[in-house]
Formats: sequence, C-alpha cells, structure tokens
Amino acid sequence: MLYTLDLIEAYGIPSRPNVATLDCRTAGDQEIGLVHTPEFIEATRRAGHGEDGNWSRFGYGPGDNPIFPQMHEAAALVAGASLVAAEEVLSGRAEHAFNPAGGLHHAMPARASGFCVYDDPAIAIAWLLARGVERIAYVDVDVHHGDGPQAIFYDEPRVLTISIHESGHYLFPGTGFEDETGRGEAEGTKVNVPLHPQTADGEWLEAFRENVPRRVREWRPDVLVTQLGCDTHRTDPLAHLELTTFAYREAAKMLHELAHEAAGGRWIATGGGGYQWARVVPRAWTIYFAEMAEVDLPDRLPEPWVRRVEQESGSPVPTTCPR
Ligand SMILES: [Zn+2]
Ligand SMILES: [Zn+2]
Repeated sequence: MLYTLDLIEAYGIPSRPNVATLDCRTAGDQEIGLVHTPEFIEATRRAGHGEDGNWSRFGYGPGDNPIFPQMHEAAALVAGASLVAAEEVLSGRAEHAFNPAGGLHHAMPARASGFCVYDDPAIAIAWLLARGVERIAYVDVDVHHGDGPQAIFYDEPRVLTISIHESGHYLFPGTGFEDETGRGEAEGTKVNVPLHPQTADGEWLEAFRENVPRRVREWRPDVLVTQLGCDTHRTDPLAHLELTTFAYREAAKMLHELAHEAAGGRWIATGGGGYQWARVVPRAWTIYFAEMAEVDLPDRLPEPWVRRVEQESGSPVPTTCPR
C-alpha cells in the first residue's frame, strides 16, 4: 500500500489539478451494519481488544483471519475510506474515486473470511442504495471470486455483480460458477466468469471483453463500483493465472470507458488482493489510478522509487511499467 502511494507520488499524479487526496474516516456501526450483523461487529471489536470469546464462530482464529489488535478500528477505517469515495462520487464532487486499501470482498454478513473483516465494497454499495441509488454495477477482477458482494446482494435486483476469476475448482473460495445467477427478482443479475488456471493476458482480456462491457452497458448503472485485485499476475504466489501489467492497462481503459459511457462517469474503485507487494501491487494500482486521472505513464518507473524499493525489499523490482 505505502509503495503504491509512493509510486503514484513519484509520478507526480497527486499534484495534478484534477486530482485530490482525501482523508479517510471511520465507518460507524450503523453503516457497517448495512451489511454485517450487530453480533459480528461486536465480536470483531471485542476480539480485537483482547477479550476472550467464541470468536471462531465468526471466522476468527488460526488460518486466513487471525485476531489482531484493534481489528474493528482498522477494518472500520478501510470501510470508511470506501464510504468517502462513495460520498464524493454520489455528490458529484469527484467523478472517480479510488480507495486502494479497500476491496475486502470475502467478508460475509456474520463472518470474516479470506483476510477480510468488513466487506467495504458491499458496505459502499449498500450505503448508495440507502441513499436512493437505483442501479449499481459491481465488477470484480480479483483472481478470487467476489463471493461477499455476490452473496450479500444475491436477492437484490438493483445490484448487478460480475466477477471474473480463477475457477473455484482450483482456488479459494470455491464458488463463482456460471449457474450462480441471483435469486427471485434478482435472477440474472449475478454473473460469473470462471477461468482455467494458466489463463494469460490474451484469453483473460477476451473473456473480459465478452462478458463485462455489454452487460454493464445494458444495465445502465447509476454508479460503477470495481474491485481491482491484482493477484491475477503471473508472479502472484496465491493463485495460478498468468497475467501481466499489460492486461491491467487494457482493463483500466475499458473500465474507464464504461464508467463514462454507461454510468455517467460515476466510478468508485477499490484495491483488492495482490501478494507481490513490491514487484506488482504498486505498478498495478498506479496503472489504474493513472487511467482514472488521465495521466499517460512513461514506461520507465521513476528511478529513485525503484532503488528504494529494491533496497528495502532486498530483491530486484521491474523497472518498466507494462511487464
Ligand atoms: Zn484475491
Ligand atoms: Zn474519466
């Protein structure tokens, strides 16, 4: 995360006249409660304050969601940042807003899951719905299925979710198949594009082009919300797709076009998974952010940034952006 902000800074993007950096805020219990149960919020708060309890019932314990100090406070800040993004875009103060710390798309209403405590994209979507927004499109390009938002809005006809990910046959969370399409009035509003392991740029982009733009255009959302996980990269240690940053540039362009064509320009973006924190994550999210800010990135990364990250991480870092 810090390397991402540093790289965005090193390219001089925040000082552009069309870019503003905003403070985040803490999401209130009521806002988190749009998605999560009061019991889960309480458990998260108490577990993070070192109290004893049956926390495994809420997904906490050994594995992907170990208890850490101030767990509620940290997760509420991430959710609050996505809410600031939603507020800016809904009010028209900003056309696009990006919370790179967000995208915690595995958390469920009463359970933490897959490194995720509070489901900030779902909280932002629920917040928009509560303010009368009628149609939302959520597009999730993380290598893992966006199971949280899909489950939370499975019966909600106002929310289209599209997730493009490595098939659940091979990867956590084991869901996200084509036959998961929504329930009742929401039938047909949930879309899944599972991909085989080893899918590379060309095939991934083809799957994206076939499934995402047409559906979002037809949906004509009031707001586009995206989860931009970059654990699809070929060097990511947790999954098996073979993407490069070339695909992120293309995806960024297409999502940006879609936001303007189909959603009146209103685009809320979050980060997501990405476990090559020095070699991939900063480049990936800088590419998306530069696209949002209409900045053409030179291929070469700023040298002082490369030198510092190499020194601190103790391993070589790619020196060009699309690689
Ligand atoms: Zn992921
Ligand atoms: Zn734009």
